Amino acid sequence: MTQSDKNSRHQKAMAKQKASVDASIEAASTERGVAILLTGNGKGKSSSAFGMVMRALGYGYKVGVVQFIKGEQLSGEEIYLRDHCPQVDFYQMGTGFTWDTQDRSSDIAAARTTWERASAMLADPAYHLVVLDELTYMLAFDYLPEADVIDALAGRPPEQSVVVTGRGGGSALQDIMDTVSEVKDIKHAFNSGIKARRGVDY
Ligand code: ATP
Ligand code: MG
Repeated sequence: MTQSDKNSRHQKAMAKQKASVDASIEAASTERGVAILLTGNGKGKSSSAFGMVMRALGYGYKVGVVQFIKGEQLSGEEIYLRDHCPQVDFYQMGTGFTWDTQDRSSDIAAARTTWERASAMLADPAYHLVVLDELTYMLAFDYLPEADVIDALAGRPPEQSVVVTGRGGGSALQDIMDTVSEVKDIKHAFNSGIKARRGVDY
């Protein structure tokens, strides 16, 4: 095949793809906030959520972030939001990982207090985007009543988007989300003995 044949073939394929993309864009007619679940065992859930925080901030929207599990080490995005983004309402459960604290009743109390902050954001139309990082573990450990969480997510203001991250999450949660993406663990550097990297993993 000559170069010109290749170019002409590519041009036809792209025109076809454009027609199909344009038709899908035309067909999408509903304008409202979306509920997104980022789940799965691979790396990329929280960092994707913080990518959406940047997108929302780029347009000057109000953002709320609630983290349900926090290690001792602050992550780069946490430091950045704290020091440079006073417009982001940021709240951390702050008890550390549940397998570190090993104290179920104090974890439950902390989860409930943290949930009060999250549910207040989910009821406030001023927030364009709310990130509930690692929320799924609170459901998996039964620290929060699933029905309350689902009601608050489903009943949020129509213009508000919400991003939930964490492994698992259960089918009731998946059912009420508009977008569910599973990050698959094909390989991770940690399993080859490479240490978690500052600025990349935290
Ligand atoms: P990230 O914050 O990097 O987007 P994540 O939110 O998808 O990761 P978490 O389960 O919250 O994943 O874990 C966060 C930390 O654990 C990160 O340092 C990440 O690199 C690491 N991690 C994520 N997935 C794996 C994995 N499959 N094996 C080992 N470490 C992992
Ligand atoms: Mg995460």
